[in-house]
Amino acid sequence: MITRRDFLRIALLTPFALESLPGKLYADTKPRLKEALYYQKLDDKKMTVSCQLCPRGCIIPEGEAGFCRARKNVRGILFSLGYAQPCAIHIDPIEKKPFYNFYPKSMSFSIASAGCNLRCRFCQNWQISQVSPLDTVNQYSLPDKIVSTAKSSGCRSIAYTYTEPTNFFEYMLDTAKLARSNRLHQPGTAERTLQIP
Ligand code: SF4
Repeated sequence: MITRRDFLRIALLTPFALESLPGKLYADTKPRLKEALYYQKLDDKKMTVSCQLCPRGCIIPEGEAGFCRARKNVRGILFSLGYAQPCAIHIDPIEKKPFYNFYPKSMSFSIASAGCNLRCRFCQNWQISQVSPLDTVNQYSLPDKIVSTAKSSGCRSIAYTYTEPTNFFEYMLDTAKLARSNRLHQPGTAERTLQIP
């Protein structure tokens, strides 16, 4: 149980406070590119692809990124640029999400990669939602590292938040599978604008 003072201190911290976590838990290793899910190679010689993850349905020429800036076509293969590249890692009170009566007073391990398939004019996290994962300072963290750190931090859940998690879908999916088998809950707090079944 946290005190009221602790609650206010944590709630007022910026969501981008990577430095608030123990750096040794995020030892740098060689980042790996992750091929995106849910895309099709179009039948042309220009290596164009069609992303089918969200309703934008971007047709992406070779060398270009989609509308969300988080998925890039490299020689006909679509890559998820935000995989294991969170630009925001933070431990939030679950009430900050805001969730009511969902493991009250517990802490939620909250992550985001840069990019978004929306352009909301009121976005409070535009510094990370309206840029590419290539433009943010990231802490390379594979799903197993996220789950083990969440558990060792005493969190009851992992939240995919701050930006629209659709743009880092593959990262969210792999982390969620692992988290579930480790009995961590997963409240989603963003729009989740997916169109896949
Ligand atoms: S996820 Fe990104 S690249 Fe794919 S359709 Fe949506 S906006 Fe376009």
